[in-house]
Amino acid sequence: MKGYHIITFGCQMNAHDSEKIAGLLELNGYVESIEPKDSELIIINTCSIRKKAEDKFFSQLGRYKKLKTKKKDLKIVVTGCIAQQEGERIIKRAPYVDFVIGPQNIHLVGNLDTNQRILTSENIDISTLSIDAKRNIQTKALINIMYGCNNFCSYCVVPYTRGREKSRASNEIIEEIKGLTLNGYKEFTLLGQNVNSYKSDINFVELLKKIEDIEDVERIRFMTSHPKDLSDELIKAFKDFSKLCEHIHLPLQSGSNKILFLMNRKYTYEEYLKKIYKLREYVPDISITTDIITGFPSETEEDHLLTLKALQEIQFDGIFSFKYSLRPGTKSAFYEDNVDINTKNRRLNEINQLQDEITDKKNELLKNNKLEILIEGPSDKPNFKLMGRTRGNKIVYLNSHNNSTSYGNIVNVIIKHTHRHSLEAEYIEDSNSHTRL
Ligand code: SF4
Repeated sequence: MKGYHIITFGCQMNAHDSEKIAGLLELNGYVESIEPKDSELIIINTCSIRKKAEDKFFSQLGRYKKLKTKKKDLKIVVTGCIAQQEGERIIKRAPYVDFVIGPQNIHLVGNLDTNQRILTSENIDISTLSIDAKRNIQTKALINIMYGCNNFCSYCVVPYTRGREKSRASNEIIEEIKGLTLNGYKEFTLLGQNVNSYKSDINFVELLKKIEDIEDVERIRFMTSHPKDLSDELIKAFKDFSKLCEHIHLPLQSGSNKILFLMNRKYTYEEYLKKIYKLREYVPDISITTDIITGFPSETEEDHLLTLKALQEIQFDGIFSFKYSLRPGTKSAFYEDNVDINTKNRRLNEINQLQDEITDKKNELLKNNKLEILIEGPSDKPNFKLMGRTRGNKIVYLNSHNNSTSYGNIVNVIIKHTHRHSLEAEYIEDSNSHTRL
């Protein structure tokens, strides 16, 4: 049997594409190899959202060149956003790469018997992307509900690499979820670059309702939402749909209206804040996370202070923060990247320091609270047996291992200790009521 090894960079979308590629390869007789050296096929699923991820990819590629000189029958395939954008350049720079396959063409991975080495056609029929994924976690599943993006934020490559928005038919999504519940899956994360603009025969909230009505579904999540499309109807769904977990990832990017405008985000800070107030009006303890980019072209100290003020005002549960990096092909590549690297680093540190304090304080408030967690599997932290997640998407470690705490079960725990990135808890025998946090 031939072995395959997949290296994945980037977002949940890529993570799920890798699961689909694995599913396809296994259907074609491949088996997963833990080590690249034991594989006949290495897939590098790339991300081009930031320069750092791109640099990492090219340095990794060099390592596999050495392997290929020792192992002549090894095939190297590059997939993901860099593949879509830089197909020709990859082959030129690394001629030992056998195939370059864009995210809209991953269905071709199972059949690479072609003379064409660059497979990056756009405008494909999205039903070809409905591929049976090989999921490693048996409790929760990522589900694509749409592909592509129409928003053209000025710093982002996604509309160029994943094409325009296309929504999957609702009945196909429902069937996929029902099938997974039969295999014991409990939690479903609906994926799309901008899920709120899902539109097939029904809209996004109607889709959520249909999933809520599937008996064996226990939890629903989604990502990512664009603030401009976060409707009142969707905000209300957090209160009305008992299976919809109380967590939203709502990328803010900057607290400055000038920068938001240059980013082409199509909302002001005040409009964003109003949506946060509304979310908290319906669900006071909803967990809210965000993305922040610092050092965008022309960002002044004043703009930076507005971002710090926004963090202070909103009190996010967590943030993903990044230094701006110029991405070729985007609109912002035409702006002068004029915030120097030291300033970017300092601003990033200030943002992270402030948010760390906020996250610590917010997590401390959870101490001695009773929370519902879904047990996801074994702990990756020493001295703990199990790992689970709260409805607010916080990682929880615990020790008790009995029938009630089997993988996939939803149990109540008491939070004993809190850390910045995780909580430690004790299982409590209290199956009647679950606390929705
Ligand atoms: S919404 Fe903006 S940041 Fe998100 S994928 Fe679309 S263009 Fe990129």
